[in-house]
Amino acid sequence: MTSPGIRAQGRAAVDELREWQRGLRAQFPIITGRPELAYLDSAATAQKPQAVLDAVHTYLTTTNANAGRGTYTWANRTTDLVEQARDRIKRFLGDPAPDRSAVHFTSGTTEGLRTIARDWLPAFLEDGDEIVVPVADHRANIEPWLEARQLLARQGVHVHVRPMPYQRGSGDYDHTALADRAGARTRFVAVTHVHHVYGGDMNVHRIRRAVGPDAVICLDAAQSVGHLPVSAAELDVDFVVFSGHKAMALPGTGAVWARQARGPAFAPGGWSGTPNTVGIASLATALDWLDAAGTERIERWTVALAARLTDRLRHLDGYEILGCRASLAADSPVPHRRGIVTFRHRDIPSGDLGFVLFDHGFMVRSDSHCQGGAGEKTDSVRVSLHVYNTVEEIDRLLAVLATMT
Ligand code: PMP
Repeated sequence: MTSPGIRAQGRAAVDELREWQRGLRAQFPIITGRPELAYLDSAATAQKPQAVLDAVHTYLTTTNANAGRGTYTWANRTTDLVEQARDRIKRFLGDPAPDRSAVHFTSGTTEGLRTIARDWLPAFLEDGDEIVVPVADHRANIEPWLEARQLLARQGVHVHVRPMPYQRGSGDYDHTALADRAGARTRFVAVTHVHHVYGGDMNVHRIRRAVGPDAVICLDAAQSVGHLPVSAAELDVDFVVFSGHKAMALPGTGAVWARQARGPAFAPGGWSGTPNTVGIASLATALDWLDAAGTERIERWTVALAARLTDRLRHLDGYEILGCRASLAADSPVPHRRGIVTFRHRDIPSGDLGFVLFDHGFMVRSDSHCQGGAGEKTDSVRVSLHVYNTVEEIDRLLAVLATMT
C-alpha cells in the first residue's frame, strides 16, 4: 500500500488546488476545445496557454525584426527582448550571481547539451580526466559526451567515461557508489533532474557532496523546468539545460544557463546567425506564466495525480510500473515520483495499448522513450502530466486500463 501520509497529502493537494487548477486549465484552448480528449504526453512537449499564443501574435504583428542588427525601433525592441529573456531565464533558474552567468539560446535540450560537449568540454578536459555519464537516462544526455571523448581521442587526449552508478531496479542514482568512485580526476558529471521514463526526482542536490567542490555538474532539466521549482543555487550545478517547448513555449526553443565559475567561460563559438526571436518571446512569456501560476503548486498538482495513478494501477492485475520503486514502497516518506508514470501490460504490447488508449481519447507515448542503452530494453506506455490534466482524466484512464486486466 502507498503510505497513508502520501495518500492524504495527495488528496489534500487536490482539494486545495482544484479551483486554482480549473482556472489555469481554462487558459489552454487546445485542451478546452477537445474535452473528450486527454493529453497525457507533456514530457514530449507541453501545450501552450493563451498568454503564450497572444505573445507570439503580438510580437509578429507589432515588432518582428532581426535582433542586434538594426537602427530602427522594431529591431531595437527585438534586441531588448532577447536580452530581457536572458535575464528572465536567470531569475527563473534561481541564478545566484546573474552578472557572472551566461544564457545561450538553443532549439532544445539536445542541442544545448551538444553545444556544451562540442564548444566547451574539450577545452576543459585534460589527458587522464574522467567524466561521469548517466547511461540509463535520455540519449540526449549520453551521446554528446561520448562524441566529445572521441573528438578528444583523435587529438591524443584520452578521457575516461565512467557510467553513472544506479540503484538496482529503481532507476535512481546510487550517490554512495558515485562518491566512492569519484576522485580528483572526475572533472565533469552529467546528471538529469527528473527521469523522463521513471519520473523519479534524481536527488541532484546530493551530487555535489558525492563528487567534490571542483567537478563541473551539468544538469539536464528537460523534465523539471516548468514542472517544479528549479534552483541552480540550491542544486549547486554549473550548467542547466532545458527545452522551452516542454515549458509551454514554442517548439524550437531552449536554453543553456552557465554559471561560469569552474573552467573556461561558456561562449559558444562562431557566428550563430539569426536567433529564434519569436520563440524567445514565447519563452519569456511562458516563464512569466509559469511563475505566476506557481511552479511549486504545479509540482504538487502533478505529483498528486501521478500518485493517484500509481496507487491504483499497482492494484490492477497485469500491469507493471517501471522504476521509481521508492514511491511505491509501503513506508516511503517522500513522494519521490514527479508527474510521469510509465508502465507495461503483461500480455498486450505497449504499441497496441497506445492505440487502444487513443481510441478512448488518451494521448500517451508508447515506445522505448529515447532511453540510453543501459535502460529498459522493451517498450512501455508513458503517461506524463501537466497542470492542465485533471483527476477525472486519471480516473477515466484507470477505468479503461481496468477493462484490460
Ligand atoms: N532530456 C530529457 C530528460 C528529455 O526528456 C528530453 C525530451 N524527451 C530531452 C533531453 C531532449 O529534449 P529535446 O527533444 O527538446 O531536445
